[in-house]
Amino acid sequence: MSDMPGDVTLSIRDDVPLAPLTTLELGGNARHLVEAADDAAVVEALRWAEARALPALILGGGSNVVIADRGFDGLVIRVATRGRRFDDASGTVTLTAAAGEPWDDVVAESVARNLAGLECLSGIPGLVGATPIQNVGAYGQEVADTIRSVKVLDRASKRVHELAPDACAFAYRDSVFKRQPDRHVVLAVTFTLRPGGAPALRYRELADAFGAGATPSLAEVRAVVLELRRKKSMLIVDGDPNRRSVGSFFTNPIVRAADADAVAARAVARGAIATREEMPRWPAPGGAVKLSAGWLIERAGIRKGRRRGPVGVSTAHALALVHLGGGPTAALLELAREVGDAVHAQFGMTLVPEPTMIGVAWPGTEN
Ligand SMILES: Cc1cc2nc3c(=O)[nH]c(=O)nc-3n(C[C@H](O)[C@H](O)[C@H](O)COP(=O)(O)OP(=O)(O)OC[C@H]3O[C@@H](n4cnc5c(N)ncnc54)[C@H](O)[C@@H]3O)c2cc1C
Repeated sequence: MSDMPGDVTLSIRDDVPLAPLTTLELGGNARHLVEAADDAAVVEALRWAEARALPALILGGGSNVVIADRGFDGLVIRVATRGRRFDDASGTVTLTAAAGEPWDDVVAESVARNLAGLECLSGIPGLVGATPIQNVGAYGQEVADTIRSVKVLDRASKRVHELAPDACAFAYRDSVFKRQPDRHVVLAVTFTLRPGGAPALRYRELADAFGAGATPSLAEVRAVVLELRRKKSMLIVDGDPNRRSVGSFFTNPIVRAADADAVAARAVARGAIATREEMPRWPAPGGAVKLSAGWLIERAGIRKGRRRGPVGVSTAHALALVHLGGGPTAALLELAREVGDAVHAQFGMTLVPEPTMIGVAWPGTEN
C-alpha cells in the first residue's frame, strides 16, 4: 500500500467525441477527456473531477463499452500507462504489465518467450487494465487462471493496493471490479506464466483443429486461435463489415440444472430441436449449467446477418451485434432489445449484456 506522488500537469480537452475511441464507433462526446500517461496522472485526474463534482469514467481500448448518444457528462480518463516486466521466479515467470499496455501485444510477447498461460487469449482487443474487470476469457482460458495480483488505486482513498486473486472474486465474465465499478482503477496486472509449459487445449474446437494426440507449440495455438477468431469476426480486421462490435453482446446464461432442463424442454416443444440433448450445455461451478447465448438467439429466430438500418447481427456470429456505419447508439440498443425479447419469448431466458453501459439503462434506453 502506498500514496501517490502529486505535482502532475493534466492536459484536459473539452467536448471530445468518444465514438472513435470505441470499437463500436458509437456514442456522443465526453464533456472532458484526459490521457493519463502515468499512475500519478490518474490520481490527479480523479481529483480534478472530484473538485468539480463531476463523474469520472476510466476508458481503456473502448472494446467493451456501449456509450449513449448523449455521451458522458463528466471526465473520461484514458489509461495510457505503459511498461511490461518479465521476472524469473523459481520455475515460473511473473509478467507485470501496466494497465495501458495493449493486451494482444502482451500475449504475443509471452508466446514468443515460450511462456504458457495466455496463448488462448490471443486476439482479444483492448488494454491490460480491463482484463480483470470481466475476467476476460476465450477458448478454454481466462485471466483468472494466471493472475497473481492486481495493482489497484482505491478511488476514494487514493491509496494503492495489491489485490490477491481471492480479493478480486473472479467468476465467469465477472469480478469485484465489475460489481463495484466506481471503487478501483486497475493500474497494473501481474500474471504467473509457465516457461516451456504446454498450451491449454481444453476447448473442443481448438483441440479438434490439431487432432487427437497432437502437441502443438504455444505459437501454433496462438496462430490457430487468431484464425478461428478471424473466421467469426472476433478479431478486428480492417475492411471486415462485422468489425465494429464489442465481441459478444450478451454473456452465456448460467442457470440451475432444473432451469436448463426447462429451456431444453421448451426448445423441443416449440420445434427448435428434436431432442433435449441437442441443446448445447456445459457444467458450471456449483452444479450450475452454462447455456450458449448464441444458440438461444439463433433458435429464437434471429439469424446471422439480420439487419436493422445502420446496425445488425454479425454475419459471422449470432452473439455479436455490429454497427455498420452512420448509426446512433439508440439503433443498436433497439436491436439488442429485439434480440433479448425474442429469446425471452421463446425460452423464458433473460439475456444479460456483456459490455459496460455508459449512460444507458438496460433494457436499452438512455437514462
Ligand atoms: C472483436 C471483439 C472480440 C472480443 N472478444 C472477447 C473475448 O473473446 N473474451 C472476452 O472476455 N472479451 C472479449 N471482448 C471484449 C473486450 O475486448 C474485453 O472485455 C477487453 O478486456 C476490454 O478492454 P478495453 O481496454 O477495451 O476496455 P474498455 O472497453 O475501455 O472498458 C471496459 C470496462 O472496463 C473498465 N475499465 C477499463 N480499464 C480499466 C482500468 N484500468 N481500471 C478500471 N476499470 C477499467 C471501463 O470503465 C469499462 O467499464 C471482445 C471485444 C471485441 C470488440
